[in-house]
Parts: sequence; structure tokens; C-alpha cells
Amino acid sequence: MAKPKLALYWAASCGGCDVAVLDTNEKILDIASLADIVFWPIAVDFKYHHVRAMENKSIDLCLFNGAIRSSEQEEIAKLLRDKSKVMVAFGACACFGGIPALANFSNREGIFQRVYLEAPSNSNESGTVPLIQTKVPEGELELPELFDTVLTLAQVVDVEYFVPGCPPPVDLILKLVELFASSSLPQVGSVIASDKTLCDECKRKKEEKKITRLYRPHEIIPDPERCLLEQGIVCCGPATRGGCGLRCIEANMPCRGCFGPPPGVVDQGAKLVSAIASIYQGGDQHEIKKMVDEMVDPAGTFYRFGLADSMLRRKRIQKT
Ligand code: SF4
Ligand code: SF4
Ligand code: SF4
Repeated sequence: MAKPKLALYWAASCGGCDVAVLDTNEKILDIASLADIVFWPIAVDFKYHHVRAMENKSIDLCLFNGAIRSSEQEEIAKLLRDKSKVMVAFGACACFGGIPALANFSNREGIFQRVYLEAPSNSNESGTVPLIQTKVPEGELELPELFDTVLTLAQVVDVEYFVPGCPPPVDLILKLVELFASSSLPQVGSVIASDKTLCDECKRKKEEKKITRLYRPHEIIPDPERCLLEQGIVCCGPATRGGCGLRCIEANMPCRGCFGPPPGVVDQGAKLVSAIASIYQGGDQHEIKKMVDEMVDPAGTFYRFGLADSMLRRKRIQKT
């Protein structure tokens, strides 16, 4: 019997999700023995034209990592959707926009201005910025269009499953492969992780203590037994889905929210604001302002991984 066909792709991605698949060590051989890898730009030399030549729905499983922020990524997401029976948003960027979606606090014009014109490391006296079409003596060159707004995979194509994490932990990757190989994938739309919050899984002592100030992780050595939030360190546990194995908490570091919102929570950032407000002792406006001022980059803290998938989606930019 022919082996199932597996494709892996990276869009707006740091490559960490692909490395996480390679991190399955010797289990990668199990994956390779279960499925034929037909497309995987980081590891195997197949080209887009090979995918275009495949029959629709001939790929059994596609693990798609990275957000969508360019016309090329959108095109390949649609191509892989047509060719794949099961599409998985793999990793925080594909699921929620992830770190690339922090660009939604700006827009293409603002990003080009900063990256190509203002950055102190640049030498760009002619003020060149990327263009979609450029005429050169040999003809016309074309680059993909960078979108104003970074999108999640599910905002571009239908997605069957979501595997969160930055990157997804190895045990969840192996769980997905096992579920796929044994034809026991759950209901379409499922998130392959825990249905609890990270706080529900965390064994740290919670004393219902109020806090009077916030600390950045380098300003305090936290007690490894006690809840980090109750020690004044912003920990996204109350607003984050469990299932990562408490990777950061066990290293005595706060959760940054890479598993996205838990079931029933629409907006991870709003949930986190509410969790912090509920334990903050500040009695008046002045004290609450002091606490907010203590937080470096509150918007980036609350929406580090989830801006594209939040109710805000992006900052509204006044066009001049
Ligand atoms: S989820 Fe994390 S590891 Fe994966 S591509 Fe995005 S930033 Fe990289
Ligand atoms: S806030 Fe963080 S440290 Fe506290 S219980 Fe939740 S996950 Fe654990
Ligand atoms: S503790 Fe939070 S940030 Fe760290 S891996 Fe788990 S979900 Fe992601």
C-alpha cells in the first residue's frame, strides 16, 4: 500500500517550527517511515512547480508553519490547501499570527520607513525601498507584495487542526503524527493541546496574594515554588492554553502565551489584562497608572503571539 504523503511549509516564520520537527531526533525516521515527504523547503529539494503538478488532495497531511504576510505566502497557502486533504496550522505564527504579527502595530509604509530608511545600520542614500516591479536592462523583475496586515493561516484558507507553541513541543508533534497514522485525528477544528489553562496545570503555590508592583524577569529572582504572577512578574498562564509541559515555568520564567488562548477565551490579551487587574492592589487611578507605566511594552506583552487572531487584529493607522 502507498504511504501517505506529507508536506511541510514555512511562510512568515523564523524556521524554529521546522527545526522542532527535526528535533524529534531518531523519531524523524518513524515519521519518514510512516509517510513520504513530498515537499519541505528547509530539508528536501522540491520546488513550487512540483507541488503545482500534483493532483488536488493528493497530499494527505500538510504542516504549515508561519503567518501570512506576503502575496507569495498567500499563494502557496492556497496551493497547498488545494493539494492537501488535511491542513494543520503548525506553531503560534500559523495559529495566531505569532511574533511576525506584532507588525500589525505598524503597516507596510511604517515598516519600510524604519527598516530601509531610518535604521542606523543602513547606508541607503538613494532611499531605495522594495518595489513589486522593477525595470532593469534585462527586463522586469518582480518581488512578492508585502501585505499591510499579517494574517493567520485560517484567515486565508480553511484549516482542519491547530498545533500551538513557539515552536510546538516534540511530544505534541509526535502525538499529531500518531493520531494521523492511526486515523484517529479528533474533530475538525480541534487544537492539539490541553483543554485546560496553563495555570490549571501549574503546580506552583497560589496564595491569592495581591500585588503592588510589577517586575521584569531580570529585576527579581523569583521563588521557584510560588506563582510568578503573585510575585509581580507578568505570567500569561491565566490566559494561555496548557499542554506545553510548563516549559518556561519549570525554568523559573514566566509564560509568554505561545499556546494561545484557552478554550472559551476569545481575546488572550483582554483576558490577561483582566487577570492582572484582579490581583492588583492599586486602589486609585494614580496607582493603576503607575503599574501600567511599570510595564515595558504592554501591547506587545498582552498580544505577543496573538495580535492577528485577537479582536483588535491590528492597530488602526491614520493614513496621511
Ligand atoms: S511559532 Fe515560533 S518557532 Fe515557529 S515560526 Fe513562529 S516564531 Fe518561529
Ligand atoms: S500565573 Fe504562571 S506561575 Fe502562576 S499559576 Fe499561572 S502559570 Fe503558574
Ligand atoms: S510556558 Fe507559556 S510561553 Fe512557555 S512554552 Fe508554555 S505556553 Fe509557551
